[in-house]
Amino acid sequence: MLTQSNDQFGDIRDAVRALCEQFPDEYHRKVDQERGYPDDFVDALTKAGWMAALIPEAYGGSGLGLTEASVIMEEINRAGGNSGACHGQMYNMNTLVRHGSEEQRQKYLPRIASGELRLQSMGVTEPTTGTDTTQLKTTAVKKGDRYVINGQKVWISRVQHSDLMILLARTTPLSKVKKKSEGLSIFIVDIKDALSNGMTARPILNMVNHETNELFFDDLEIPAENLIGEEGKGFKYILTGLNAERTLIAAECIGDGYWFTDRVTQYVSERTVFGRPIGQNQGVQFPIAEAFIEIEAANLMRYDACRRYDAGEDCGAQANMAKYLAAKASWEAANACLQFHGGFGFACEYDIERKFRETRLYQVAPISTNLILSYVAEHVLGLPRSF
Ligand SMILES: Cc1cc2nc3c(=O)[nH]c(=O)nc-3n(C[C@H](O)[C@H](O)[C@H](O)COP(=O)(O)OP(=O)(O)OC[C@H]3O[C@@H](n4cnc5c(N)ncnc54)[C@H](O)[C@@H]3O)c2cc1C
Repeated sequence: MLTQSNDQFGDIRDAVRALCEQFPDEYHRKVDQERGYPDDFVDALTKAGWMAALIPEAYGGSGLGLTEASVIMEEINRAGGNSGACHGQMYNMNTLVRHGSEEQRQKYLPRIASGELRLQSMGVTEPTTGTDTTQLKTTAVKKGDRYVINGQKVWISRVQHSDLMILLARTTPLSKVKKKSEGLSIFIVDIKDALSNGMTARPILNMVNHETNELFFDDLEIPAENLIGEEGKGFKYILTGLNAERTLIAAECIGDGYWFTDRVTQYVSERTVFGRPIGQNQGVQFPIAEAFIEIEAANLMRYDACRRYDAGEDCGAQANMAKYLAAKASWEAANACLQFHGGFGFACEYDIERKFRETRLYQVAPISTNLILSYVAEHVLGLPRSF
């Protein structure tokens, strides 16, 4: 049975699709061209309760699982939008829900559920250490009832459109821990407060209309109570968020993949050259069929990752593999879609070049394909560590 239209999430899909229909291609194109932020779209998602999907009902959310959250993100991308503007809230939420104290949950979750607060940002990547996360240089030193943060981050997204950020910093020097993944901690940072108290944000203009920034911390003081969970265990906690992030982004790529295959299938059925639809040529059919097969396969892995995540099982391998397969499949679908639209694929009014750029990002972020291959080689196949 094909997964693309046969699942049990029809109600969620219909409702998200209906909302997305109010924001047609022209809307997302204009936001992209103006390098703006889709405020109205994200507001509508928030008011409809979709951005609070993962918040338990006791805190004012809908108490849904990652599976349902992934369907929401998939539908946004499938409708021509870009979940990159708001997916941070979904994957950051679980870090707070799973590892935050009861006090922190009470303090933040109801206000996030109501839309009063946004938790869209996560600060992990650093300019000098990149994917080698445990080597990060940003430090948080406890002084009385405060932590003092110094260092630098790069590519930290949605800072201008978020109230809160989850920040990963080293609390115990690398030289004093047994394992390099120890001694890292995560904190909730109040962005507005931080911006007038030692944190500077410098936007990075980039290939996609993705609001992302360099961050500089110069003696930023945050209350000690903003530590999430136990000091020194932040790397373990952040992995929960990263697995959710990878799975959700896999779903977004799947949404993109279906968007590309729908568009190109329709176009090649109608476009007539040499006296027949170009879609009658197998040279045109096969790359589209191949991309579709790969999207369907990625979809199965995505649901496996979601199921494991929601059941509290280890899902690192499945989350990584789903992201790898989905990003590759959406990229192949994007290539076929662009190719078979001929010159028109390059015209902005077709939205293909925009979606092409947007989906290309996921070969690199939030984790590059090479690093996923390395993870599977080492952690699943048991091959020797290469780094
Ligand atoms: C638009 C955008 C938004 C982002 N948003 C966020 C965010 O909100 N928060 C955040 O923390 N980060 C964010 N990132 C950062 C993103 O997660 C990183 O760019 C990504 O993980 C790659 O890290 P890097 O850029 O430092 O590349 P590097 O680590 O320098 O790697 C560069 C290339 O070398 C390859 N490579 C490196 N080491 C190896 C190896 N051992 N074997 C084989 N290949 C290797 C990688 O595969 C990669 O292709 C964002 C990035 C972008 C572009």
